Amino acid sequence: MEARDGVSARDLMQPGRGIAYDDFIILPGHIDFHYQDVDLSTQLTRRVRLQLPFVSSPMDTVTEHKMAIKLALLGGMGVIHYNNAIEEQADEVRRVKRYENGFITAPVVLGPGATVEDVFAIKERYGFSGIPITEDGRPDGRLVGIVTNRDIEFEPDRGRPVSEVMTTDLVTGPAGITLQEANDLLRRSKKGKLPIIDAEGRLVSLVSRRDLLKNRDYPLASKDERKQLRVGAAVSTRDEDRPRVEALVEAGVDVVVVDAAQGDSVYEIDMIRWIKATFPDVDVIGGNVVTRAQARRLIEAGADGLRIGMGPGSICTTQGVMAVGRAQATAVYMTAQVGRAAGVPVLADGGVSTIGHMAKALALGASAVMMGYMFAGTEEAPGEYFYDGHGVRLKRYRGMASIEAMAAGGDKRYMTKADDRKVKVAQGVSGAVTDKGPLDDYVPYLVQGLKQSLQDMGVLGLAQLHEALRDESLRFERRSSAAQLEGGVHGLYSYKDSGLGLRSK
Ligand code: GDP
Ligand code: GDP
Ligand code: GDP
Ligand code: 5GP
Repeated sequence: MEARDGVSARDLMQPGRGIAYDDFIILPGHIDFHYQDVDLSTQLTRRVRLQLPFVSSPMDTVTEHKMAIKLALLGGMGVIHYNNAIEEQADEVRRVKRYENGFITAPVVLGPGATVEDVFAIKERYGFSGIPITEDGRPDGRLVGIVTNRDIEFEPDRGRPVSEVMTTDLVTGPAGITLQEANDLLRRSKKGKLPIIDAEGRLVSLVSRRDLLKNRDYPLASKDERKQLRVGAAVSTRDEDRPRVEALVEAGVDVVVVDAAQGDSVYEIDMIRWIKATFPDVDVIGGNVVTRAQARRLIEAGADGLRIGMGPGSICTTQGVMAVGRAQATAVYMTAQVGRAAGVPVLADGGVSTIGHMAKALALGASAVMMGYMFAGTEEAPGEYFYDGHGVRLKRYRGMASIEAMAAGGDKRYMTKADDRKVKVAQGVSGAVTDKGPLDDYVPYLVQGLKQSLQDMGVLGLAQLHEALRDESLRFERRSSAAQLEGGVHGLYSYKDSGLGLRSK
């Protein structure tokens, strides 16, 4: 048989020489399909499946509810940061979970004596104003009417009782009908809401037309069984964060990410064990780890997913300051081997600044990619845009172990005991990134790029990619520094790149 070009991933990883994404290249395969047919769906944790392998970092300049909602609608998932009070973080989770629904099982309701002002207050707080009115004002009370935006929009007297403005002649659905039947009724009634009631006329739930539209507009959305968007949230390894976990679970979080720069500690193992014992239905991602032994210990503790990376982050100075870490491509490959054997997916975290880096992380066995840098400049990231002196539109992006973020509470990730916090050694920087526009435009761009990359490799999806990694049909080569120069833009007097996820050289 003719010798094959390149080497397997196993042979690419020489002992004692950690490599970065830029140190290697993937050899092309054979194309016999359209790139649009490439399947990017993946397993984030043992139980949570996503249509896209994109996860946003738990950082205070990256993920709050706006990022988490839009990323989940598009098929990925956001992880809410914990540089905030417990209630604030739980509220962020709640906002994501409330955003889209199948049956809204505990809709906000009012009693007949409530005022138009009360409806406006609900609209102000939650963003919706379709309020079922029950006899006693309780969510499971007898339904007597409904108030919607249209009933109060032009009402000059905000003190008026809702009983005077509500509609009482209602189209309702019977308890026990399927969501599909409820949706059909809603389509036929042409109303905005369909209250579901039991035989005694008590309110059971509510279905909203808006959710049919959301479902139509975002067919890849990451949703749970109740059609609520998936969301993750990070917590520290400290015992004092146990109430935080409780509050997050109460708010409906899907995945808890136990967040530590060096995740292989007794503190983290205790935290994972406690979460798994207390909330067996919630998946836990442990990390960060970079070696096989570390990965094994977190899997033994019960982790349903692993987060990989120590030092590759764009804002990160850990390797320089601490002299500990690992080159990211090697870390991803090694831990993914251990994860695969145990059925635990790994999430490649940090150091991704191009579509090519994502493709390489996935090709080395990662099931999904966590990114801070790539998402920090989008509209959905927290913070306002500002301009530098030359008219370039920017957003702040800072490491959670930068002096600024630590001052706001972010140091929990980097130290394990509360009293260690008197002296702060920064392991990250604070800076700015360029505008990347709204996720609605940016994510499809990333998706298309990634699909074309897999097409070039000759694989039809992430499952096939991992299969090709294992059977060694996926071939790799090291890139010398001359090869890296050759592979980048060179020799031009000047040029412009798209600025969208392409690191300027
Ligand atoms: P409205 O007409 O002002 O009530 O609002 P829309 O129908 O445009 O949007 C309501 C959105 O909020 C839907 O996506 C619902 O799933 C979501 N939602 C979450 N919780 C509730 C709730 O308790 N009541 C209502 N009315 N909507 C809710
Ligand atoms: P789909 O692939 O998103 O349609 O998911 P399913 O096959 O599980 O959908 C079952 C039914 O639920 C179908 O009638 C869908 O239109 C409907 N559905 C899916 N997502 C939502 C949602 O967010 N809200 C509502 N009200 N219905 C939904
Ligand atoms: P809006 O467009 O968000 O204001 O909400 P809807 O389309 O739900 O409501 C339009 C009008 O229809 C309001 O005056 C409602 O009170 C009235 N209405 C009458 N019957 C029903 C019903 O069975 N369900 C709903 N949701 N509204 C009804
Ligand atoms: P990026 O996508 O910017 O390359 O990397 C984001 C990742 O860097 C985060 O998900 C997190 O794991 C890590 N990170 C965030 N802040 C800091 C920090 O201040 N120091 C270090 N060492 N890593 C950080």
